[in-house]
Amino acid sequence: HARRIEGVDKNIWVEFTQLAADYKAVNLGQGFPDFSPPDFMKEAFCHAVSGDYDLHQYTRAFGYPPLVKILAKFFGRIVDRQIDPMENILVSVGAYQALYCTFQALVDEGDEVILIEPFFDCYQPMVKMAGGKAVYVPLRPTVKGKAMSSRDWALDPEELASKFTPRTKAIVLNTPNNPLGKVFQREELQVIADLCVKHGVVCISDEVYEWLVYDGAMHIKIATLPGMWERTVTIGSAGKSFSATGWKVGWAIGPQHILKHLKTVHQNSVYHSATAAQDAVAHGFQREYERFGKPDSYFSQLPQSFHQKRQRLADCLAAVGMQPIIPEGGYFMIADISAIKADLPDSDDSDEPYDNRFVKWLIRNKGLATIPVSAFYSPEHQREFENYVRFCFVKKDSTLSSAEQILREWS
Ligand code: PMP
Ligand code: GLN
Repeated sequence: HARRIEGVDKNIWVEFTQLAADYKAVNLGQGFPDFSPPDFMKEAFCHAVSGDYDLHQYTRAFGYPPLVKILAKFFGRIVDRQIDPMENILVSVGAYQALYCTFQALVDEGDEVILIEPFFDCYQPMVKMAGGKAVYVPLRPTVKGKAMSSRDWALDPEELASKFTPRTKAIVLNTPNNPLGKVFQREELQVIADLCVKHGVVCISDEVYEWLVYDGAMHIKIATLPGMWERTVTIGSAGKSFSATGWKVGWAIGPQHILKHLKTVHQNSVYHSATAAQDAVAHGFQREYERFGKPDSYFSQLPQSFHQKRQRLADCLAAVGMQPIIPEGGYFMIADISAIKADLPDSDDSDEPYDNRFVKWLIRNKGLATIPVSAFYSPEHQREFENYVRFCFVKKDSTLSSAEQILREWS
């Protein structure tokens, strides 16, 4: 095998999704809605596949033209700048592939990429496979005692600045963040932006949860800060935007001098994402463009419907003695499990973090699947954060009820 895949053979989703299936566990692990996308999206998909020819065949490599056009119009209005649908956008196979193209296109052997912990796990293997070196900087709880909101976790600006070196090629930002749910505020983004401009570094901004903000938190695109459009790749996901994660349509938006390199990777690897799914997503965005900011917009309704699920899960976790950290955005909530008594078997692997063992035990013995938060940390730092597990609350009320029942019966 090639050296680039050494050490990246384990994957948290492969492992824990299988385990949850084997034990038929109630699944608050993997981040996907267990309910349908909205009717208008299902209808758009059916319409796309019911035709005779065009949408069953190949389309333009970098994005089906009606989709890139409406994405340009939609996001152009948000960032208040002319976005060229042909030059500034790449449609990918989910946000995953947009991330992959970005790392492959920009990171060379020996380049450093700064990752903010906790981070969506795939950034690290993707940096490694591109030949780069991940450099980690943690968000830390800033209040004494128990932090109650994701807002209480912050970067130390001096520590962050110390990570930038002449080898730094990029920094990855994820707001709203997975798994913590932190939504970076303007002043926090400004600190990152200033460092990017000062050191000539690219910002890879993963914004797949951009519509999902709660309690008045505001999602701000770092690409709109002065000097940042020219050095930012903004990544999004139709799966997360329209509750259709299996459709695997994503995109990267940015300046032409960067996007053209992502296109080189894309055209020589997957070529394009499924035409019919792109057509359905184009219809979804057209609908949302017309309703943007109005009460009948799906992007407005989605966080409202999740708000109550988030509260419900938080109340239940608190009642059973798991200290939840209330997320300002996204699909997930992390909770401190230090106070929970679990009768864990000894591990064969002394390096295995406590939360990993706890989650396996919870799946096997209680039939409830979650994800260990140490999976979102570097090997160097994961032992410091091994007392948290991640719950996905974007689930049907009946799924949340089953999970609640398990938690309340056992603790
Ligand atoms: N980034 C983050 C932060 C995620 O949580 C996910 C998982 N949905 C992705 C990227 C990948 O998104 P997609 O399903 O569109 O490939
Ligand atoms: N992004 C989702 C999560 O964080 C799922 C990722 C995956 O299944 N590979 O749970």
